[in-house]
Amino acid sequence: VCPTAALTEVNHTPKVWDALNNPDKHVIVQVAPAIRVAIGEMFGMEPGTIATGKLAAALRRMGFDAVYDTDFAADLTIMEEASEFVHRIKHGGKLPMLTSCCPAWVQFIEHQFPDMLDIPSTCKSPHIMFGSITKTYYAEKMGIAPENIVVVSVMPCIAKKAEAKRPELSHDENANVDIVVTTREIAAMMKECGIDFPNLEDEDFDKIMGESTGASVIFGTTGGVIEAAVRTAYEWLTGEELKQVEFTQLRGLEGIRQGTVKIGDMDVKIGIAHGLGNARKLLECIRDGHCEFQAIEIMACPGGCVGGGGQPYHHGHMEIIKKRQEAIYQEDRNKAKRKSHENEEVLRLYKEYLGEPYGEKAHHLLHTHYSPKERI
Ligand code: SF4
Repeated sequence: VCPTAALTEVNHTPKVWDALNNPDKHVIVQVAPAIRVAIGEMFGMEPGTIATGKLAAALRRMGFDAVYDTDFAADLTIMEEASEFVHRIKHGGKLPMLTSCCPAWVQFIEHQFPDMLDIPSTCKSPHIMFGSITKTYYAEKMGIAPENIVVVSVMPCIAKKAEAKRPELSHDENANVDIVVTTREIAAMMKECGIDFPNLEDEDFDKIMGESTGASVIFGTTGGVIEAAVRTAYEWLTGEELKQVEFTQLRGLEGIRQGTVKIGDMDVKIGIAHGLGNARKLLECIRDGHCEFQAIEIMACPGGCVGGGGQPYHHGHMEIIKKRQEAIYQEDRNKAKRKSHENEEVLRLYKEYLGEPYGEKAHHLLHTHYSPKERI
């Protein structure tokens, strides 16, 4: 990955057009949390404009058979990740637990810190979880053969193109996600279609896997994944309602941050880093025994996915990233539900298909493993 966008993406838009033009294929698109606060810039809108409804409308006009939100799968990720965290706390598992949804840092730890591969969460990233559920639960529910489904991920990220090809993230040797395009690529495709993005009426995502909470939206910015996990872990560990859901001590744009969250009798120490130079410092500090944390979040790009390598170019202007980050927090505040374990469609998925969070079926479909890679 190249967070500064000195390298650009391999163009995968022809593959998407081929899928959309193939009448035998059922083509599903999902969009990551950070896209909605950045894509407007490709159409002359101000940085930080929230364009969630226009995004759904534009994708539908492009001809996708179903238009979904990766936020649904971000809530699903929290169900698994918070379960894993609670399990590690209660059963003396390895701490700190590191979030695992950024494929660039997963590659980084596999290459650079192969002795620390027991600390990342085993959760697949949200868009890969979405693909896995689409080709099993959704396929069964809709009566469509999985081999006729094409999952297209719209990501703020170049690294997710390589991630989708990892054999560890396939299911029965079939890729969970077939094609990944960036924010820039999907905007170029919308322009090719002549879509007047700024003037579209807002539309909703499709049902079954389209509901999301505020916790899932904040995945789009540094500190958001761990804050979302804390919202759920707090209620599961204490059995009490969490009234103040915003953990401001975990927010900001400093490269390395730390905060302590009180969960019942426990003081949970949390470390956050964005940018791989900062990630290295944080991991070395943990390995050398100088830093003690129970949970860590690392994102490779400045600001997290809002500043991703596939987003509209920000040319290093942190004020653009800040506006996108503010829009992410506003979108969280706009949501009626702000905790992942309150997502009704996710709860139905467990009831009808997966069983218990962190259970056997969930492990099979939603978790992965890591292995040391040769240092480059
Ligand atoms: Fe991709 Fe960057 Fe987000 Fe990591 S932080 S998932 S590399 S966009």
